[in-house]
Amino acid sequence: MNPIAPIVHPTALTLHPTEPLLQVAGLAVSYGRIRAVDGIDLTVEPGRIVSLVGSNGAGKTTTLMALSGLLPLAAGRIRFAGEDITTLAPELRVARGIAHVPERRRVFAGMSVRENLVLGAYSRGDAVDIASDLERMVALFPRLGERMAQLAGTLSGGEQQMLAIARGLMSRPALLIMDEPTMGLAPQMIDLILDTVLEIRKQGMTVLLVEQNAVEAMRLSDHVYIMRLGRIVHEDSGATIDPERVKSFYLGADS
Ligand code: ATP
Repeated sequence: MNPIAPIVHPTALTLHPTEPLLQVAGLAVSYGRIRAVDGIDLTVEPGRIVSLVGSNGAGKTTTLMALSGLLPLAAGRIRFAGEDITTLAPELRVARGIAHVPERRRVFAGMSVRENLVLGAYSRGDAVDIASDLERMVALFPRLGERMAQLAGTLSGGEQQMLAIARGLMSRPALLIMDEPTMGLAPQMIDLILDTVLEIRKQGMTVLLVEQNAVEAMRLSDHVYIMRLGRIVHEDSGATIDPERVKSFYLGADS
């Protein structure tokens, strides 16, 4: 992969070295009377890849949506870069340096790759640097560079995922939140996307990732949280966690 200049949000530079980038305490989210996330704590240190894994319906997507302000909290607090952002509007969280790459790689299908990328920089307001950031994205994803004028809706699934990630990076986030970036992709494309996540981290980015595939998540991550039925049932550093134990946490003692 081509070496490219780091993409770093000012938030990441001003953070005190001992302070976590993201700190979540007692986060709870309800859909009507259903409590989908039931009081979870998690910490993301700067420069790390942290994964949230768990079976279907564990509450992973709901957690990410609450973190980026797309769902209201029933309880709990969120601190980001030393600031309480619990009630901050989603667009202000983007401005603070949180980018969310949602599930199912949502891109603007009727717009070109370039237009999608430029929209990703919308929150920044510094048009001067957009051209150099487009170059960075092309260096990171050469396949997008070859398709700048192509309509996003006509890209392959893997290319759309690349575009969704690149669009998130265009906001120059301090924290990139990714919801199942490998879902439904061919094995080769999965490797490419996950290698890119490692490359992004190497450039100084902090990543919070939801991944169905726990083994892949463990390979990639500095820290893994395992969710089940709206709660965190285990956490471990990616290197030391045992896949067999993960399986048991997925299934639960009562399964
Ligand atoms: P998956 O891996 O299948 O995407 P997940 O861990 O991301 O699962 P969530 O999508 O966060 O889980 O769902 C958590 C729980 O909340 C599930 O029981 C789900 O049915 C419920 N839920 C999610 N979205 C809604 C909604 N809009 N209305 C009602 N219930 C919902």
